[in-house]
Formats: sequence, structure tokens, C-alpha cells
Amino acid sequence: METTEQILRYDREHIWHPYTSTLDPLPVFPVKRAEGVYIELEDGRRLIDGMSSWWCVIHGYNHPVLNEAIQRQVAEMSHVMFGGFTHRPAVELAEKVLGIAPKGMNKIFFCDSGSVAVEVAMKMALQYWHAAGNPRKQHFMTITKGYHGDTWNAMSVCDPVTGMHSIFSGVLPVQYFINRPERRFGEACTEEDFQELRACFEAHHDEMAAVILEPIVQGAGGMWFYSADYLKEVRRLCDRYGVLLICDEIATGFGRTGKLWAVEHAGIVPDIMCIGKAITGGYMSFAAVMATDKVATTICSENPYVFMHGPTFMGNPLACAVACASIELLKSYDLGRMIGGIERQLREELAPAANYPQVCDVRVLGAIGVLEMKEPVNMGVLQAQFVEKGIWVRPFGRLVYLMPPFVIQPEELSRLTGALLEIVQTI
Ligand SMILES: *Cc1c(COP(=O)(O)O)cnc(C)c1O
Repeated sequence: METTEQILRYDREHIWHPYTSTLDPLPVFPVKRAEGVYIELEDGRRLIDGMSSWWCVIHGYNHPVLNEAIQRQVAEMSHVMFGGFTHRPAVELAEKVLGIAPKGMNKIFFCDSGSVAVEVAMKMALQYWHAAGNPRKQHFMTITKGYHGDTWNAMSVCDPVTGMHSIFSGVLPVQYFINRPERRFGEACTEEDFQELRACFEAHHDEMAAVILEPIVQGAGGMWFYSADYLKEVRRLCDRYGVLLICDEIATGFGRTGKLWAVEHAGIVPDIMCIGKAITGGYMSFAAVMATDKVATTICSENPYVFMHGPTFMGNPLACAVACASIELLKSYDLGRMIGGIERQLREELAPAANYPQVCDVRVLGAIGVLEMKEPVNMGVLQAQFVEKGIWVRPFGRLVYLMPPFVIQPEELSRLTGALLEIVQTI
């Protein structure tokens, strides 16, 4: 396998990429290395990263501190089973994460990916009600346009339309969906905004184990930022009706929205919380589920007296070590200033797009900037044009968006937004 062409040919003939056809795959760009906010292609072209490799690479690529942490851990042990063993990287990570988590999160379950974290969280909710003597509570309520991962139960709470539930109808667990909150972030909700939510609680709380949602920012399901009042009301109704609240912070966690956790915008604490993506600074697949003492204690007080989950690579030492280093880096930043600066610049530099005839909405929150187009874009064509301009942006549907690494410098961000607007104008 010598030349770039040979690599690309083999890839095209044998490898599945995310959501792609094997018959007619979109072109992929071969990456040689990456450093800081730059991704270098095999042909030497360097792209400014506007995606953080899907929310993960908050400190930039090839970071010396993270490299050192993972190399030091390799020299000790790369993996050891978590059944019957523990190790310093796992315990240190638990202490670091619980130390910065919303108050009340007191137990942590390490797992391998975001989707698995969602499965684990949903199982926790079911086991909780089983142990609490209320086995009728087996269903989940969520809002439309959400995204929680691609495994079975995670998929059941993804948006039914974009998640293509029709293909899986009859075999996917049926959940309660209500329309996503239309009230924007920063706006106050009116009574009307809560109507559907309250009605669903009233009608179905007996069968509801938990509400699961992405707090404040809905990511892959629509890049939508909604009112903190709505999240507060969800918390209030969960308490009132005896329903658990699962917050999926896999995309929003670790500072992306301007707060360390998106739930902080609403001042609420969930019963169960999923984290992932940026947890290792984008170095490897890893995730975790946190829960309150009440959830954990209830589950473990009744038959089978344990929580029924335990992945092979649970608490992987390499992932834990690099996650510890990533959290220390994050703590060393003036996060408010850093994300505030990116947010101000995104706001200012994306604002002109609001007047483009192709664009119907421009919105920015924290280090996330979104252009919502009137028509779906041609991802393949647009992506190639972005690469020509030296930026890496991967749009989907009607959404063209940026979520750069936190370490991006103002002039790099200007080049990113500048090239983005230049191309979007030509659509
Ligand atoms: C990406 C994502 C997931 C799934 O994580 P994977 O690591 O891809 O399995 C779940 N929930 C949210 C909110 C996500 O953004």
C-alpha cells in the first residue's frame, strides 16, 4: 500500500465511513498528520479545523501535554481488566471529574463511547424503578431533533425523522416524543412554551422512567440552542411527577457552550448525566455516566443488588490518563475569557451571513457558530470547496457550522469564518 491513490482505492472498495454508501461513497480526504488547529493532508495541504473532530479535540491535535500523559501510561500498562482491579488513572479521573461535575453527581461509571454511555444511563433509569418497586416505569420521554447516538436504545430517543425510525419501526422501543422547545436560548419562556411538556407528564408519568435530553444545545439533531427556562421546567416537572432526568452532555460538556456544563445555564442538576467526546481531549474513545447517590443506592439495594453493565474496556488506563491531563489543561485555561472571545468573534464575523439570501438563521453560543440555510446543502461539493479554501468544515442537511478547538487564535478563526462565508455566498 504505497501511494495515496492506492490507499484511497482500497478505502473506497472496502471501508464504511459514517453514514455512507459502499456503492457511491463521497470522496474522503487522506490525512497525514495534525497539529494544533491544523490538519495536514497527504498532499501537504493544511486545513484549519472548524469541527474539533466532532466536538472532541478541544486542545488541538498532537498536544505535547496529552502526548506525554498517554506515553507515560503506555510505559506502565495500556490496559487491565476493571473487574477485580482498580488503578490510579481511573481513581484520579473519577476524583477530577466528580470534583468539577454538577453538585450531587457522586458515582461514576466509565465506558467506551457516547452511545454506550446513553445505553448505560437508560439502563440505570430502568433498574432504578425496578428496584424502587415501580416496574411500570419503562419508557422515556424526549424532545424531537435530539441526537443521543447510534446504538439501539440511544437511537430510540434520537429524532424519529432524521434518525430514520421508519426503517426500524416495530423493532425499536417506542418512546414519548414532544416537539423541541422553539424558545431560543437567552429568551424567557411563556406558559404556552410548557403546554406540550406538561401534558405529556400528566398523561404518561406512570410509565415514564426518565426524561432524556441534551441540555441547552441540541447537537447533531439540529444544532439548536433553546431557552434555559425550558430546562428548569423539565427539572421541576421531573421532581413533581417522580421521573428521573438524564442529561446527555456528551457534546456540550467540558466548556463548549461557555460554561463547563450546559446544565449550568439553567442552574439545574440532573439525576444521571452522560459525558464523552471531549473527555480525552479527542485522543481516544471514552465516556462516562454519573449519577446521584440516590440513584446508585436504590439500584444496589434490591435484587440483583448490582448495576448490570461492565464493558471489556471499562476504565481503560490510557484513556483515563489522557483524560486526567485534558482536565488539568482545561482547568489551566481562563475558560470564560477563552470561550467568550471565540463567541464574540463568531458573532461578529458570522453576522453578515444573516443578510445572505441562502441563509435563514445565524446563531452562536459559546464556541459554536451555526448558519442555517434555506435549502439542504450538497455536502460533497461544499466540503471540497472548503478544502480548496484551506478549512475543514463538514455541513449536514441545512446546517453549516463551526465548533473549532478552544485554542484557535483570533487570526485563524478569522480565516475560518472568512473562507466559510465566501463559499456559502456562492451556493
Ligand atoms: C456524539 C453524541 C453521542 C454518541 O457518542 P458516540 O461516542 O459517537 O457513541 C451521544 N449523545 C450526544 C449528545 C452526542 O453528541
